[in-house]
Amino acid sequence: MPPEHKPQQTLNQQPDNGPAPAPALAPTPPLIRVTQPHLPPLDEFIPYLEQIWESKFLTNGGQFHQQLEAALCEYLGVAHISLFANGTLALMTALQALGIEGEVITTPYSFVATSHALLWNGLQPVFADIDPVTFNLDPARIEAAITPRTTAIMPVHCYGIPCDVRAIERIARRHGLKVIYDAAHAFGVRQDGASILRHGDLSVLSFHATKVFNTFEGGAIICHDAATKRHIDLLKNFGIQDEQTVVAAGINGKMNEVSAAFGLLQLRGIDAALAQRRQIAAHYRRLLAAVPGIDPMPDMGDDANNSYFAVLVRDTYPISRDALHQKLHDAGIHARRYFYPLITHFPMYSAIPSAAPANLPHANVIANQVICLPIYPALDAQDVERIVGLLAAS
Ligand SMILES: *Cc1c(COP(=O)(O)O)cnc(C)c1O
Repeated sequence: MPPEHKPQQTLNQQPDNGPAPAPALAPTPPLIRVTQPHLPPLDEFIPYLEQIWESKFLTNGGQFHQQLEAALCEYLGVAHISLFANGTLALMTALQALGIEGEVITTPYSFVATSHALLWNGLQPVFADIDPVTFNLDPARIEAAITPRTTAIMPVHCYGIPCDVRAIERIARRHGLKVIYDAAHAFGVRQDGASILRHGDLSVLSFHATKVFNTFEGGAIICHDAATKRHIDLLKNFGIQDEQTVVAAGINGKMNEVSAAFGLLQLRGIDAALAQRRQIAAHYRRLLAAVPGIDPMPDMGDDANNSYFAVLVRDTYPISRDALHQKLHDAGIHARRYFYPLITHFPMYSAIPSAAPANLPHANVIANQVICLPIYPALDAQDVERIVGLLAAS
């Protein structure tokens, strides 16, 4: 029988003559991904589910949705929040809520949802370069990109590092522009003793599984007055005002009751999770101080949420960033090159004049140097030491 016709042996099909041989694999340490979702003990979630089954209220702004909005306003120190099914719908709705038209200045150094939300609103993204230290939009480059068609700025607090919010606010005032922060990385981030989410006309959070605070999938818009919140709440529910009245071409962006209930439970553990992240980041920083050519992202101390631990692989490091990425991968460490490639390298953006690499020198350099090391509450100190050991041995 030619070899390709041999019956395949799988784990479920043991050979007739005796037990399957033990797998001849050397024990390998478990795979470490860049992040791991934070989950509370399952049995603590059952009572919430029982309440949902009892009430048969699954969505449309039920009791858990209302409770989570109130609890998040309190936890984050913001006036109004509107929950969404995910952060991308929240970004799209934020642009609708402010009636943004024409051109919007944004960053190439982000997850692609930031600028996709612009395209889904028929808006023209205009890319400006980043500051190479904070990874956030450089205010001077924002101002230089303004045209008569500019109506808004959409910056990102990348890795939870605050944008230069004061400079952005001055530019927005001077030119009559709206500011919508993509704050998907910035849950719990503070500056000058208060939430970073108080800045801009609107801020948008993501509660995706990979984020610091997750509701499986979820998101939110933070706004500053009750009228704007009412408008956003209309837009996320088809524009329905009452049984007989539809006042806007809204969308379905609502968070369901299971996710909202889960958010309430997650919120109980968030301070402990953030404290664990802080310890891990501090451990990385201590050990990496002795590794030449590897520069960690700026340290914001207790104001940070340590949602990511980005390091830059400089030219002085013995091997390339991609070789290091592969080396880690081969050792079972799945670090990620966020944000490489830049948004401006994807085909739906690359032909836009402002997407040209010559317009975005810092973003291009950083995208080629960055690597995000694993960080999540359950990552233990020995794993951090093993990862830094691999970085030190190149
Ligand atoms: C995760 C993320 C989003 C999208 O959020 P989802 O909840 O996954 O839709 C948007 N912007 C940035 C910067 C993100 O990291």
